[in-house]
Amino acid sequence: MSQVYQLIVIGSGAAGMMAAITAAREGKSVLLLEKLSKIGAKLKATGGGRCNLTNTLSNEDFMARFGRDGRFMGPALDGLDHKALMAFFSSLGVESHAPDGYRVFPITHSSSTIINAMKEEMDKLGIQVLCSQKVESLEHDGVQITGVQTETDSFKAEAVVLASGGMGYPVLGAEGDGYPMAEAVGHKVTELYPAMMPLKVKDKWVEKCRADTIAKVAIHVDMKKYKKLSATGDLIFTKGGIRGPVVLDFSREITPLLAKFDEVPVLANFTKGMNEEQIRAHFKKEIAKDPHRNTLVLMQTLLPESVSLALCNLANVDEKMGWNKLSGQNRDTLIRLLVWTPLTINGHDGFKMAMITRGGIHLKEIDPYTMQSKKLQNLYFCGEVMNIDGPCGGYNLQWSFASGYLAGKLQS
Ligand SMILES: Cc1cc2nc3c(=O)[nH]c(=O)nc-3n(C[C@H](O)[C@H](O)[C@H](O)COP(=O)(O)OP(=O)(O)OC[C@H]3O[C@@H](n4cnc5c(N)ncnc54)[C@H](O)[C@@H]3O)c2cc1C
Repeated sequence: MSQVYQLIVIGSGAAGMMAAITAAREGKSVLLLEKLSKIGAKLKATGGGRCNLTNTLSNEDFMARFGRDGRFMGPALDGLDHKALMAFFSSLGVESHAPDGYRVFPITHSSSTIINAMKEEMDKLGIQVLCSQKVESLEHDGVQITGVQTETDSFKAEAVVLASGGMGYPVLGAEGDGYPMAEAVGHKVTELYPAMMPLKVKDKWVEKCRADTIAKVAIHVDMKKYKKLSATGDLIFTKGGIRGPVVLDFSREITPLLAKFDEVPVLANFTKGMNEEQIRAHFKKEIAKDPHRNTLVLMQTLLPESVSLALCNLANVDEKMGWNKLSGQNRDTLIRLLVWTPLTINGHDGFKMAMITRGGIHLKEIDPYTMQSKKLQNLYFCGEVMNIDGPCGGYNLQWSFASGYLAGKLQS
C-alpha cells in the first residue's frame, strides 16, 4: 500500500515552504510537490533578487494597507508577525535588517540565502521534496481531502495545503492552477486581475521623458466615482508609459478599472505634493534671483527638463519666453499643470508582467484562524492563491509566510 503522508503541500513558494517546515517541526510527515524543476523560483526573483521579506509596520498598520479584507490576516499575523519572521530566519542563520527603517531584507541582500536556508531546514526535517510534479487535482471522499493527483502520480495524504500562488509572472511557476482545483471542491474564486506592474499611457509626450525619474509622485484616478483610488511614490517614465513603486501600487487599483473602461484618466502631482500657492511662492523666490529667467529654466527648478518641456507644450507656452513675459492666463495654466498633470492610462502587459494577482479564492470560505477550507476538511490554503493582495514593500511575502505558518499548524 502506498504511503499516506500527514501533509502534502502544493507549491514551493514562500507560503508552501513555510507551511511544510511548520508541519514537519510538529512531527508531521510532509511531501512538498513543485511543478517546476527547482523550488522557490518566484521567491528568488523577489525584490530584484534582494528579497524584501517584510516591513516593520505594526500588525494594525500592516493590515490597514490591505484595505477592507486586511483584518482576515489578524490571526495569521498574531502567529507570525514581522519580528517573529525575522527571528525565524535568524534561527536558520539568516540575519535581516531594515536599512531604511521600514523594508526588511536579509543582510546579504540576496534571496538565495533565504531559499537555501529554507531548503536546508526542509532537508534537516526530512521533508520529501518532489520537483517537476504538477498537481492536477485534489482527491477527496466528499467530506475530507484524501490526496492529490499529479500529471503522472497519485499521492495520499491526511491533509493538503494548497500554496500554488497566483497567476503573475507565469515563467516563475504560478499560473493559476490552484483556482480550478479549489473550484472543483466547491470554492468560489473572485475575478482575477494582474497587478503590480508597469502601465501604458496614451499621452505621446511621455515618450520624450523616457528614463526620467520623479520622486514622491502622488497620483489618483480622475473619475467621479473612483477619485479615492490613489498612490504615492517614485515614478519612472518609460517609452510608452510609466513604472516605478507608485505605479506598482497604483496598478492594483487600475487594472480592474481597465477591465471596465478602455481608458482611465488620472491626475499626477510631479512636484512633491506642492499646491498652487507653494508653486507661486517658489517661482517668486526664483525670479527674484534672476528676473529674466526663461520659463523652461524656471520649471526645471522643480522638474526634469523633458517633463518641463512637455508641460510647456501642453500649456501651449513658448518655453523660451521669460516667465515675467507670459500672460497671466498662461502662467495659471502652467501652474495648474504642475499641480495636477493629466495622463490617460490605456493598457498594461497582463499577467506576464504582473508581480501579484488581484483576486483569488474567496476569503468567506476559509477559516482565518486555521486557514482551513470551510468546504472540505483538512484542506488548507496559504499565500497568494487567496483573495488578498497588498502593496509594494514586503507585504505580500509577509502575508505568504504568516499564512503558511498558520496553515502548517494543521489545526482542524
Ligand atoms: C518579480 C517579483 C518580485 C517580487 N518582489 C516582492 C518583494 O520583494 N516583496 C514582497 O513582499 N513580494 C514580492 N513579490 C510578490 C511575492 O513574491 C508573492 O506574493 C509571493 O511570493 C507569493 O508566494 P506564494 O508562496 O503564495 O506563491 P509562489 O511564490 O508563486 O509559489 C507558488 C508555487 O507553486 C508552484 N505551483 C503552482 N501550481 C502548481 C501545481 N499545479 N503543482 C505543483 N506546484 C505548483 C509554483 O511553481 C510556485 O513555485 C514579487 C513578485 C514578483 C513576481
